[in-house]
Amino acid sequence: MESTLSIIKPDGVARGLVGEVIRRFEGAGIKIAAMKMIHMSKQEAEGFYAVHKDKPFFDSLTDFMSSGPIVVMVLKGENVIKKNRELMGATNFKEAAPGTIRADFATDIEKNVVHGSDAPETAATEIAYFFSQLEIKG
Ligand code: UDP
Ligand code: MG
Repeated sequence: MESTLSIIKPDGVARGLVGEVIRRFEGAGIKIAAMKMIHMSKQEAEGFYAVHKDKPFFDSLTDFMSSGPIVVMVLKGENVIKKNRELMGATNFKEAAPGTIRADFATDIEKNVVHGSDAPETAATEIAYFFSQLEIKG
């Protein structure tokens, strides 16, 4: 059984898409093993996206990610890292496959509703950034 970190970003929460995103995960047979709503500081968003610190979009991205509440989740299931990325769609919503979360709801390359870990190592680091072992259901 694999785990991954999912985030419903500030645009998704503000636009009332929490239920819709979770419905898609559950509909795909993915289990939610942990979930909470938080509001990151700018510094916390910078820490989360540290891999992107040299990118031109880093300052704007971390402003956006600290602009309002987000929902962070640990998802579990077989192949869940890839499955979640498929449900999300490509980073740029204009390139996202029809029927994906980003194709259906994103408004901007930055404001693309959801985050999902991209590999087992990043999933482990990202889950540990938000959750302690005690908060994650077996
Ligand atoms: N992003 C952006 N401009 C870009 C590329 C990415 O604003 O040209 C933002 C976008 O919100 C994206 C996040 O930075 O989701 C992280 O980028 P990454 O390449 O890791 O995409 P993801 O893994 O989220 O699909
Ligand atoms: Mg990424």
